[in-house]
Amino acid sequence: MCSAVVEGPHRIALMDRARPEPAPGEVRVRVRYAGICGSDVHILHGLNPFVVYPRVIGHELVGHVEATGSGVSPHRVGERVAVDPVIACGSCYPCSMGRRNVCRQLQVLGVHKDGGFSDFLCAPASNAHLVPEGIPDASAATIEPFAVAANVTNRTGVHSNDIALVYGAGPIGLMVLQVLKGVHGIRVLVTDRLDERLTRATACGADAVINTAREPLPEALRRLGVEDGPTLVIDAVCHPAILEEAVRVASPGGRIGMLGFSTVPSAVPQQETTRKELSLFASRLNSGMFPRVIDWMKEGRLQPERVVSHQVPFAELHRAFELVEGDPRASSKVLLDFAPRA
Ligand code: MN
Repeated sequence: MCSAVVEGPHRIALMDRARPEPAPGEVRVRVRYAGICGSDVHILHGLNPFVVYPRVIGHELVGHVEATGSGVSPHRVGERVAVDPVIACGSCYPCSMGRRNVCRQLQVLGVHKDGGFSDFLCAPASNAHLVPEGIPDASAATIEPFAVAANVTNRTGVHSNDIALVYGAGPIGLMVLQVLKGVHGIRVLVTDRLDERLTRATACGADAVINTAREPLPEALRRLGVEDGPTLVIDAVCHPAILEEAVRVASPGGRIGMLGFSTVPSAVPQQETTRKELSLFASRLNSGMFPRVIDWMKEGRLQPERVVSHQVPFAELHRAFELVEGDPRASSKVLLDFAPRA
């Protein structure tokens, strides 16, 4: 089988590898589509401290079960599945609190274990979620990043009278936006510094978009009649300065959801945070959100096709990464297409 292997920082290559055999409790999945994530780019450039090289990356995928390990019903062969990359022990403190995404022995496909940029991968059978008919393959490949969006909104909670501000109109920002609009129906403002990305946000249902390269955020909030500040802020940009600004602009009693992984500290003043009694919620990966996202997709509440900008044949992996890294105006979610090759 062919796999995209990161051999070390900045080195990725398509390699011929032995097809893996499913261990007890696992299924082997033949991959159909796999999405490229910002975190894959981080691993490629040596910026993920958890990864051990060489590693097959990729954790956003859909495919078909084509073999089962012992203890797994052979009836699962042929199922179309989306694979949750979060593998947890199930018994430590965070797992006992329903927080399997921060399991003390967390293993993430594509990070700690070989992932989905490969013709095949093995995963625990319970991580392979049946995708109902009616959800196209390419849409099903976005279930994982939508689960990331669902996790942060689950962490913060969403109230019917919230006014939300989403920082960043990249794939995760757009997916958070779609959850806030399609599931919760609240007013959502979206910021970015690229008009092309804001155009996507408008297409995904944003009530207003703000190009912060041209208009300072506080001015824009006044213009939009939100001078008291957004009550829910989601940071999908993840630059340390964003959290500082979010604390300044948020409404008293507001909640802030954070998805960043920067090691640079944010200067968040206690006075502002305590005066307004803000709540800060960090959100990592997802904890059991796949069934919820699959239901939302089935019900037509999400529009994954408005986030997927490109489908690139797996053999053109390098071009796909160039789109993600080098062309943020034209690209959003880029999928690798594993259609059978000659
Ligand atoms: Mn991802």
